[in-house]
Amino acid sequence: MRERDISIPMGPNTREWPGDQPFSCGWTMTLAGGGSVNLSAVTTSPHVGTHADAPLHVHDGWPASHELPLAAFAGRAFVCSVDSSIDTVEPEDLTSLPSRGAVERLLLRTQCSVAGGTFPPRWPVLSVDTVQMLLARGLRLLGVDTPSVDGRHSKTLDVHKALFSGGAFNLENLDLRAIDDGEYELVAYPILLEGVDAAPVRAVLKDRREE
Ligand SMILES: [Zn+2]
Repeated sequence: MRERDISIPMGPNTREWPGDQPFSCGWTMTLAGGGSVNLSAVTTSPHVGTHADAPLHVHDGWPASHELPLAAFAGRAFVCSVDSSIDTVEPEDLTSLPSRGAVERLLLRTQCSVAGGTFPPRWPVLSVDTVQMLLARGLRLLGVDTPSVDGRHSKTLDVHKALFSGGAFNLENLDLRAIDDGEYELVAYPILLEGVDAAPVRAVLKDRREE
């Protein structure tokens, strides 16, 4: 079965959110310097590259990174493209989504992504009505190729809060450039980082038709 890596690296060439801590790596020991091993020391926001936000990111007292439930992050997922020029994604804009049945995981492909090396000035965002429609269809995970499930200038973070309040979670900064719309198997477990607001993810799609 073919595995498609839809992760954006957590690395020095990945654009962080403007003002956020970028990824940087220093070396506390090197073989070239006479050490017994090469040993790195990484400083980064956990939001650089592909990651899952913890509910703690938007609300004090909500679950932290180590409390993200594994079941949300693996299983059947729909990839659905929207026109990159629209600002608000209403239910009728999700044209490739089946019109009925469960949608436990939706990966929204907008092509407004840091995957190309620059931070996008804007991107399409689901309306809260669309989130509520998806939650009613069983949504547990919303993945996006954009830097956030909310808009760049949002201060109220309505989509984050609607997801977390509805028992769903998110993936941000996916690389969906080479992925066609359709139904896949997703595996995207967050690493077990304790007590913080987000966790890096290695996100992989498998094509169900190749099973
Ligand atoms: Zn985030």
